[in-house]
Amino acid sequence: MPNPCPACDGAEFQLLFNASDRLYNTTSKQFQVVECKRCRLLQLTPQPTPPELEQYYPKNYWFTPEMSTASRLKELYRRFVLLDHVRFVERAVRESGESGPVLDVGCGGGLFLSMLQNRGFRVMGLDFSLEAARVAWSLNHAPAICASLASAPFLPRSCAAVTMFHVLEHLYEPRQYLQSAHALLRPDGRLIIQVPNAACWQFLLLGAAWNGVDVPRHLYDFRPADLDRMLESGGFEVLRRKYFSLRDNPAGLATSLAPGLDPMARRIRQSKEGPRERLAKDLLYGALVVAALPFTALEAACRAGSTIMIEARKKKG
Ligand SMILES: [Zn+2]
Repeated sequence: MPNPCPACDGAEFQLLFNASDRLYNTTSKQFQVVECKRCRLLQLTPQPTPPELEQYYPKNYWFTPEMSTASRLKELYRRFVLLDHVRFVERAVRESGESGPVLDVGCGGGLFLSMLQNRGFRVMGLDFSLEAARVAWSLNHAPAICASLASAPFLPRSCAAVTMFHVLEHLYEPRQYLQSAHALLRPDGRLIIQVPNAACWQFLLLGAAWNGVDVPRHLYDFRPADLDRMLESGGFEVLRRKYFSLRDNPAGLATSLAPGLDPMARRIRQSKEGPRERLAKDLLYGALVVAALPFTALEAACRAGSTIMIEARKKKG
């Protein structure tokens, strides 16, 4: 039996599909994605225990610094497609009128933080992975610590912004994280979250093959209405929504259609490839990402893009 729905305490669920780890093949265990009959929130069941869940994150999930020409090109690409995120946060902080650091929860190797830092922001990072926090410090010069948000040593009401890109869907207690963010934000500070959008066309068309459900790493799959409810009850009001991400949407569709070509999946599965095969697969994947652009842009223009980024602030009074 699934856990009671964390959003509405509902106890009745409808089975949507069975699935296993399609992308990284870390387990052959079967899971189900079910929908709450009362509020429609999607969740993974059975929920993995923390030690199980740890095994579903491959060791090199976060980052592998290399110095070849190909990886330097990839780094340039990653910087370019991250500009969307950087600009979204930049505008949010500017409009908030607040000063103070930007805290990135789930900061990974810290590339996003280093880009913000280059634009004059004070930054801090947080990640479950010690290795990720180490890379953020040493390679991207972004101060980062390894902790959960509730136990992180930051002053209450100190942050101009708290960002969580692709974090909430991985958590057992997403509400707790929103609560902690609420406590850390300055009065006009901004919360910025991004998650896969389970109300997107790709999910309708591809079902279990949509990479946004990422079984078994995503414990919940959110639609915009689920996020609105969760933010509202956590004391936030939504200011802005964006359904397109240059980094995530086209690549997400390419990976859904051809998981065997996804560069990260190939690296994690340690596929045996010669240099030519590797280059051919990289180019093919790149072409697929480019081909996915028009569809993903249209989907997003109709507010059904495969990710959603939200800016919210604390409710007044
Ligand atoms: Zn529910």
